Amino acid sequence: MSDRIRLENIAIVLHQPRFSENIGAAARAMRNMGIRRLRVVDPHMYDFERVQRMATHSAADVLRDMEIFDSLADALAECEYVVGTTARLGGQRVVNTPPRMVQQLIPISQENRIAFVFGREDRGLSNEDLRLCHSLVNIPTAEFSSLNMAQAVMVICYELFTATLAGKKTFVPRMANRFELDGMLTDLKDVLIKISYINPENPDYWMNHIRSFFTRIQLRAREVSIIRGLIRQVNWYGEKRYRDGLEEQKAADKTEECTRT
Ligand code: SAH
Repeated sequence: MSDRIRLENIAIVLHQPRFSENIGAAARAMRNMGIRRLRVVDPHMYDFERVQRMATHSAADVLRDMEIFDSLADALAECEYVVGTTARLGGQRVVNTPPRMVQQLIPISQENRIAFVFGREDRGLSNEDLRLCHSLVNIPTAEFSSLNMAQAVMVICYELFTATLAGKKTFVPRMANRFELDGMLTDLKDVLIKISYINPENPDYWMNHIRSFFTRIQLRAREVSIIRGLIRQVNWYGEKRYRDGLEEQKAADKTEECTRT
């Protein structure tokens, strides 16, 4: 069983949109997110030119295959699973968030056609429309919950699209193991004592914060070796300055001796 959603089995259904521009903007959002099946039910004052203008040329193929129906029941007839989208929470309804909904749809989408239904701009979906839905999804918002229809389409399509990426292998760098981390912390403790950053009387006490900080940030193996390189360089520089100081002192002593004799 695949762990990715099958976008070919997803259709977006716009129920009685009042503005042709919203159909075009929805088509464009769908095209951005790799979803191609658009169904429109009983659009109000339908104007294809206004649809096209918002869809832009890139979504021309979504518009070419777009289907227009007289009733919502007809638009959903061949779908095995229907998700209603709603700006309203409350009542008896169980309403999902988009990520949770998409996770539930991954197995269903393998063998079934799924429709997401969006309601008209002024009233949303009626109770009768919602009865055709198997489940409901709400996009969480601040107090003002009603999104523009095409923007709601975008949020849902984005969520669906990201679920196609879930199975892709992402590069995970190797984290430093405990041995590497402890080696680095010992080197760090030594150098911090040398430069008088921590008290040599009780270094472990002072190292506690540093230790938990470096453990918490989950260093990668490569980063640990960079920090150890830095510590080595600080040590080298300190020793060099010390040797140079001795040389200078020796030279100064010699000059003084010569001038005295
Ligand atoms: N005034 C209507 C909102 C209509 S907005 C109402 O109160 O229901 C048009 C459509 O966009 C809605 O029917 C729904 O399909 C979608 N939509 C808007 N905001 C949404 C949200 N927060 N979550 C899910 N869908 C939303």
